[in-house]
Amino acid sequence: MIVRVRKNTQQIYQHLCSVIPGGVNSPARSFKQLEMTPIVVHEAKGSKIIDADGREYIDFCGCWGALIHGHAPDFVLKQVQDQMFKGVAYGMTTEIEGKLAEIVLQSVPSVEKVRFMNSGTEAVMTAVRMARKFSNKSLILTFEGNYHGHADLGDIAVIPYNDKEAFNHFVKMRGQDIAAILIEAIPANMGVVLPESDFIEAIKDSGLILISDEVITGFRIGGMKGASHLLGLKPDLITFGKVLGGGFPVGAVGGKRQIMDLLAPIGPVFQAGTFAGNPITITAGIAALEKAKQRGFYEELDSKTARFLKKIKQGNIVHIGSMFTIFFQSPEEFTPFFHYLFDHGILFSPSPFEANFISSAHTEDELEYVANTINEYLECYTCSSPFLVSQSY
Ligand code: PMP
Repeated sequence: MIVRVRKNTQQIYQHLCSVIPGGVNSPARSFKQLEMTPIVVHEAKGSKIIDADGREYIDFCGCWGALIHGHAPDFVLKQVQDQMFKGVAYGMTTEIEGKLAEIVLQSVPSVEKVRFMNSGTEAVMTAVRMARKFSNKSLILTFEGNYHGHADLGDIAVIPYNDKEAFNHFVKMRGQDIAAILIEAIPANMGVVLPESDFIEAIKDSGLILISDEVITGFRIGGMKGASHLLGLKPDLITFGKVLGGGFPVGAVGGKRQIMDLLAPIGPVFQAGTFAGNPITITAGIAALEKAKQRGFYEELDSKTARFLKKIKQGNIVHIGSMFTIFFQSPEEFTPFFHYLFDHGILFSPSPFEANFISSAHTEDELEYVANTINEYLECYTCSSPFLVSQSY
């Protein structure tokens, strides 16, 4: 399978590999499983990303779900620019942190206090630490295929997701040791997977402390209220990231006051960060969420996504709100599909086990083109001509 030559990209990537392990600062960017040189981005705006060879792609990765308004939206940039001239980082407290906190508290049920940090990983690490202190237990119950960042969480158990029997059995055997359940209630890191209602009910019925990891789903699924609320869950703690930062690095933990107030300086659970709650991220977050809060924003985004996916005539598509995954029989079958789209100026998230995201910047015309391109590929693919890409190029 040959993806068209990208000379500058290849040169730059070669140099990157000589100075940065694997040439990347996060492994999924290496396109390693896809057997191709990764994209090296030159710039991006709206729904489009442009590579180092000047090739343009309609982007469905959207910084892994962070960019609900697309790349570099003017209304965020304007606010950030104004803030930049007043200082980019103080390492001290500002009034605007309270403003973003208010938006989170007013939007997300079961969040009574929130603390901002710099990444989803930090948010999960902190939430786990708080749950352990609160419960005076150490075991964290997690689920296969869920992703919670790269912190070492220590004493954890992993059981299958969506398996009510396995869950109930584990809770029966080890319930007394469990500090908290940590879950991506609607997982997006094994592709989008929808929860079974009896599984969710079992979690509710368990009465255990619940950390709902909404780093992807927060402010994306279920409108401003999030995926937990959509499923009727009442988490003790919720972790946020991505959309909350308006395109800038962010993480946050929110939840019940009683648990949140365990954090230093009030309580014994330590969490700190030089750049935590920095004014650039906070400003961008306020701009992004104020836009998302506007009447009809999520309804339009979600229905645009549904209209787009309806145009795709075949394939195993799982979607909720503005995120989706097209699943194949085997992960290897994703590679030629990805190449085909890439060659046609479409950038999907570069793994068969990732979600794709629609932003408010994607136009109907773009989505029509993408649906047609996907149909073209899938038609040929199901008529058993998987070499379409190499024949075309
Ligand atoms: N939790 C979930 C559900 C995530 O999807 C991610 C990142 N994709 C993280 C935690 C970690 O967030 P970050 O990459 O900002 O550290």
